[in-house]
This record gives sequence, C-alpha cells and structure tokens, in this order.
Amino acid sequence: MTNGMVIIGAGECGGRAALALRDLGYDGPVTLIGDEPHLPYERPPLSKEAMASDAPEIKAIASDEILSERSIRHIHSVQAMAIDCAAHVVHLSDGSVLPYDKLLLATGSTPRKLPMPGLGARCVYLRTFNDALAIRAHLSAGNRIAIVGGGFIGLELAAAARRLGAT
Ligand SMILES: Cc1cc2nc3c(=O)[nH]c(=O)nc-3n(C[C@H](O)[C@H](O)[C@H](O)COP(=O)(O)OP(=O)(O)OC[C@H]3O[C@@H](n4cnc5c(N)ncnc54)[C@H](O)[C@@H]3O)c2cc1C
Repeated sequence: MTNGMVIIGAGECGGRAALALRDLGYDGPVTLIGDEPHLPYERPPLSKEAMASDAPEIKAIASDEILSERSIRHIHSVQAMAIDCAAHVVHLSDGSVLPYDKLLLATGSTPRKLPMPGLGARCVYLRTFNDALAIRAHLSAGNRIAIVGGGFIGLELAAAARRLGAT
C-alpha cells in the first residue's frame, strides 16, 4: 500500500502539479492540501477581470468533477502545520496526520505586511479571491483609495479604481 504524493498548497502550482502527475501517468494516490476554502484557482484575474466585474467569479484550474475523475483528493480549508520527515507524515490543522511517500511544497508567497499597528479593516491586502471581493466592494465612485505598492498589481488596481470612479 502506497501513501503516494502529498502536495501542500492548493494554488496554481499545486493544482497544476497534481494534474500533471496524472498526465504523466502517475497512478498512486495524489492529495492536495490547501488552507483556502476554494478549488485551486488562478490569481492573475484578481487584479484584472475581478475588479472589472460587479460579481467577480473565481477562475478555477479544475472543477471538483475533474479532480474526482482524476482521483485527486483535495483537502481544503486546512493548513499543514508541521512535517515529520523521519516518519513521512504531515500534521494538519484539523488534528489529522497524513502519511506520504513524496511531498511537494507549493506554498507560494504572501504580501509583505506593513509593520504598522492599528491599520484595521480599512487596510486590505490582495492575494486571495476573498481579498479581491473585499477590495472590489470599496471601488466605487467617490471612494478615496490609497494603494501601497506600485508594481504591476498595484498599477492594475489603480487603473480599475479609476475606471470605477474611485479617486
Ligand atoms: C492579484 C495578483 C495578480 C497577479 N497577476 C499576475 C500576472 O498577471 N501574471 C503573472 O505571471 N503572475 C501574476 N500573479 C502571480 C501569480 O498569481 C503567482 O505567481 C502564482 O499564484 C503562484 O502560484 P503558486 O501556486 O506557486 O502560489 P500561490 O498562488 O501563492 O498558492 C499557494 C497556496 O498554498 C497555500 N498554502 C500556503 N501555506 C500553506 C500551508 N501550510 N498549508 C496549506 N496551504 C498552504 C496558500 O494559501 C495558497 O493557496 C499575480 C498574483 C496576484 C496575487
């Protein structure tokens, strides 16, 4: 009995790696662990299409049906808390312990947090679909928005804010 492949991080990399394993003929168990509540999804639309829409939709990499057809087990809303490399197990935030033969770490990246206390709920970071929904709700005519971070994502947000009449 094989424990197969466990992938920590159900983002674009984790999701596509799980599908690629099947494409390449891997037939052992594949388990995808993600701490977000969603299917693996693409983040680029979060600062583009999601900001242009009144009802943003998630762009999933694969549906539940496809994951199930391809025997990919997706455990969502659960964080990998610790890896015991000697015992070949991952400890999850729901208290369960998952054995593995091979482990892929696809945990991605997070925005750098501003080291300023007291920013409160009016300060939102953009990384997840839920962040995008929260930001989109603020982008309306007359709202004043400050964007910290003038890279691609910040500029895309600024353009979306302008289009929607925010200043
Ligand atoms: C708003 C936005 C716009 C972007 N636009 C572009 C673009 O136009 N072009 C482009 O090339 N790139 C763009 N990117 C970057 C691109 O989305 C990332 O490069 C890509 O998402 C990286 O994928 P990933 O799977 O490696 O990591 P991530 O997408 O960060 O996924 C990692 C996943 O692992 C989860 N995770 C982390 N730790 C744990 C744990 N311990 N247990 C369980 N789960 C865990 C995370 O919550 C996350 O769901 C954009 C990113 C954002 C946020």
